[in-house]
Amino acid sequence: MKKPIGLFGGTFDPIHHGHLRSALDIASVLDLEYINLVPNHRSPHKQNNNTSNEHRLAMLKLAVEHCPQLSIDERELHVAGPSYTVNTLETLRTNHPERPICFLMGMDSLLSFTKWHRWQDILSVCHLVVSQRPGWPLPDQGEIAQLLDKHRCIDADILHQTLNGHIFIHHAHPLSISSSEIRDLTSRNQTCQFLLPDAVNAYIVKHRLYQQS
Ligand code: ATP
Repeated sequence: MKKPIGLFGGTFDPIHHGHLRSALDIASVLDLEYINLVPNHRSPHKQNNNTSNEHRLAMLKLAVEHCPQLSIDERELHVAGPSYTVNTLETLRTNHPERPICFLMGMDSLLSFTKWHRWQDILSVCHLVVSQRPGWPLPDQGEIAQLLDKHRCIDADILHQTLNGHIFIHHAHPLSISSSEIRDLTSRNQTCQFLLPDAVNAYIVKHRLYQQS
């Protein structure tokens, strides 16, 4: 079977080293063909106002400029209204009927996974690869724990041998960085250097993003 491709959805408001390091690490450890970062048009899971699509996309482009393993899939930005992961994944599956697809997410996202639109269908299209995130332990009871009992795989080779249906927990290098921390620091005129790529940091400063109005 061909190597799996990875998809990493998010608001990326802004993209930071937590996103980038976990994606790169997963691409290498799981031997993925490549990973596409998929910025949401408007996250159905988040209440806060997003920065414009144009700014978030511009920052993503700066972040992956020198990283051939990561590219950007802009399709959800062109959807009117909320974008749903399941729709993006189904289109990708149609385009790649014989390739494993890995959808990447952080542990906080897995914990709300059963609230996602048509979440049951997502595992019939792809595997989930979940990064540990400091402060978000693996649940040992409840709906997500049951989901893990049913779908978790420990052996990464399974992700190469099957098209969909498994959940793999990725353990290495969790970085305690979040976009909300960056927005908060910026709004208080504190530096965000080393939390995100310098070029993205410079873009935020230049365009005065995340300032209190
Ligand atoms: P916010 O602080 O605004 O909630 P965020 O930092 O969680 O944002 P998102 O764009 O919402 O960033 O996240 C996109 C995906 O990246 C989610 O699946 C999230 O769990 C994951 N993610 C975010 N930060 C990290 C990190 N430091 N390590 C691993 N995964 C992360």
